Amino acid sequence: MFPFFSYSFIFATLLLWRPCFAARIIPESVTVITTTEKHNATWHDFSKFLHAERGSHVSGMAELKKYFHRFGYLSLPETTPNFTDTFDSNFQSAVFLYQKQLGLPVTGELDSDTISTIVSPRCGVSDTATKRIHTTRHFAYFNGKPRWLRGSPMTLTYAFSPDYTIETLSLSEIRTVFERSFKRWASVIPVSFHETEKYQSADIKIGFYLGDHGDGEPFDGVLGVLAHAFSPQNGRFHLDAAENWAVDFDHDDSKVAVDLESVATHEIGHVLGLGHSSIKEAVMYPNLSPRKKKVDLKIDDVEGVQSLYGSNPNFSFSSLLQSENSFNLAVRLETGLYRWIFSLGLAFLILFLGAS
Ligand SMILES: [Zn+2]
Ligand SMILES: [Zn+2]
Repeated sequence: MFPFFSYSFIFATLLLWRPCFAARIIPESVTVITTTEKHNATWHDFSKFLHAERGSHVSGMAELKKYFHRFGYLSLPETTPNFTDTFDSNFQSAVFLYQKQLGLPVTGELDSDTISTIVSPRCGVSDTATKRIHTTRHFAYFNGKPRWLRGSPMTLTYAFSPDYTIETLSLSEIRTVFERSFKRWASVIPVSFHETEKYQSADIKIGFYLGDHGDGEPFDGVLGVLAHAFSPQNGRFHLDAAENWAVDFDHDDSKVAVDLESVATHEIGHVLGLGHSSIKEAVMYPNLSPRKKKVDLKIDDVEGVQSLYGSNPNFSFSSLLQSENSFNLAVRLETGLYRWIFSLGLAFLILFLGAS
C-alpha cells in the first residue's frame, strides 16, 4: 500500500485538476459504425490517415484530397490531372483552412479532432461557395449575397415533390417537421412560408433523391452527404433518399438515423442565402452526427439571416440571449458538478483504503 502522503498528494492533484471545457463547445460524440451495419462506409476509410504528417506518403491519400477539393479547400494540381498520395505543403494549407472554417484547433495536422470531423456526415454545400463579410462574426453568405426579393411582407411558398419522396416516413410526418423548421426562421425575419400543392410554381421545391440526380452533385448513400440546397432565388432543396431519416429517435434505434428536422432547418438557411458557420452549435455548421438533434437557431444564425432580411418585429434578442446564457450556465454547472462528485468519490476511496 502507498503511504498516506502519496494518497494525499494524488487527492490534492486531482482536486486542483480542471477539465478544459470551453463554455460554448460541446464535445461532438463520434459515432463508431460497425461493419455489420448496412452502410456504404462513406468517408470512414479516412480514419486510417490519423496522425499522417507533412512529407508522408500514405496509399489512398488522393481520395482524402478529393474530399478537400469537393468542399472547397484544395485546387486541382496544375501539372497533373490527379492528386497524389503525398502529404505536401498544398495539402497542409488545405488542412489549416479546413480547421479554421470548422472551428477546430488549427494544427495543420490530421489529428483526432480533424479526422473525426472529416468522417462525420455533413451538408453537401461547399464551405467556400460562400463569403464571410464580417471578421468578428462566424456566419457567411453565398457569393454576391443573394436573397429573395418578393416585396414586403414577404411570403415564400414551398412544396414537396410528388415523385421524389421516401416511404419510410409518412407525408404528414414530413410536413409536420418542415412546418416547424420553416416557423423557426419565420419567427426571426419578416418572411412567412406557406405550403402549396402546386409543386411546379412553388418558390421552394423539396424532394428526396438517390445518387446522381442531374444537378452535378450526386448523393452517396447512407451518411456522407445528407442533403444540399441552392442559393436564392433558386429554391431547390434536395435530401439524400438513402438516409435513415428519423423524426423521433425514441422509435428508431438505428445508429445511422439522421434527424430530418435538424437537416431541414439547416438547408432552409441555405435556401434563404446563408452559407456555413464555423460555430459548432450553430444550425448553419456543416456537420451533423447521426442521432443528433440541432434545431434551435443560435445568435450566429439569427444575426446572419437578419442581416439579409431584417428582423421580425415580434422577435426579441434578449429572450434568445437568455436561453443561450442559461444553456452555457447549465454546461458549466454540469462540468463543475461532475468534478465535485468525482472528487468526493475519490476522497471516500482514499479514506477507505487508509482505514483498511
Ligand atoms: Zn449546409
Ligand atoms: Zn441535388
